[in-house]
Amino acid sequence: MNSINKEKIDLKNFTRDDLTDFVRDHGLSPYRAKQIFSWLYRPGITDFSQMTDLGKKLRKSLDDQAFFSSLTTRVREQSKDGTIKYGFLLDDGNMIESVLIPDGERNTLCVSSQVGCAMGCLFCLTATMGFIRNLTPAEIVNQVCAVRDDLLQRRLGTINNLVFMGMGEPLANFANLLSALKILMDQLGLNFSERRTTVSTCGLVPGIKELGEKIKVNLALSLHAVNDDIRGQLMPVNKTWNIAALLDACRQYPLPRRKRIMIEYILLRDINDSEKDAKQLAELMRGIRCKINLLPCNETPDLPYRQPSAEKIACFQQILLDSGYTVIVRSSRGSDISAACGQLSVSKEP
Ligand code: SF4
Repeated sequence: MNSINKEKIDLKNFTRDDLTDFVRDHGLSPYRAKQIFSWLYRPGITDFSQMTDLGKKLRKSLDDQAFFSSLTTRVREQSKDGTIKYGFLLDDGNMIESVLIPDGERNTLCVSSQVGCAMGCLFCLTATMGFIRNLTPAEIVNQVCAVRDDLLQRRLGTINNLVFMGMGEPLANFANLLSALKILMDQLGLNFSERRTTVSTCGLVPGIKELGEKIKVNLALSLHAVNDDIRGQLMPVNKTWNIAALLDACRQYPLPRRKRIMIEYILLRDINDSEKDAKQLAELMRGIRCKINLLPCNETPDLPYRQPSAEKIACFQQILLDSGYTVIVRSSRGSDISAACGQLSVSKEP
């Protein structure tokens, strides 16, 4: 991240309300906050001198006390299927990754919320790195700004959807996630609608409830198993909040209009891919407005899991289709550049 001065305040950590408090505290009229905020997220704006509707004196005073950050892109790799992985260097030398997944005319950006992750899901490479730290609101939002600018520059369109499915458990970084969402969804910020923004969780039940109370966004749930025994082995979080508690929170979650909860289910050979599992999944989802994504596991030499056969995947999907669900088998995107689901990992620049 380009920090001009560590003593200065990064205005990109502020929601519009936070910025209003900041300008008030500095003896300025609240409408200044709206003016400044509306500049912060425009492409190509890098310093206060470009904010031409602010007086010179104000720009100088802002420059003395504050700055606004951006991310340094260290890696940009494109998969043969069009997926693009971005590696961003943070101030402290840590790297985070975001993944752009083009689908026809639409681009979905998978955003990271933490450096590493503490959740310890057994099938996930990020988990092997452990938890390093939470990302700030600015570091979350700047991933979106950097990718948007790259797409603009290369005339590759724009970002249509945001999914918080990158590195980290978003709800474990709740306060910063919430500020970032407010900035991303502010009309003067990045202007993403609630329908185009999805937060994914491995199952932090209090976080799901709080998210529903504080902001309206789509929810994705990494379920991955249909009984507490298997889920507890694959995902330690299940020992704190079991499947029943989780599905209860999902039932109560206030979704945006005409939206459904995305249920993510990684298919792991001989672990959770049987006909019985599929039938149990159909049973569990009864009464939940949902769409089921089946993700045949991305094999990696570092983890012991294997993908089920194509027949087994088709059979699993068919059972759910026959039960009346919308079910999509998600083909693995970007696996040749280690950008696929569960393959993101962190490294530190020497
Ligand atoms: S799957 Fe998500 S929540 Fe689980 S360890 Fe990986 S990044 Fe963390």
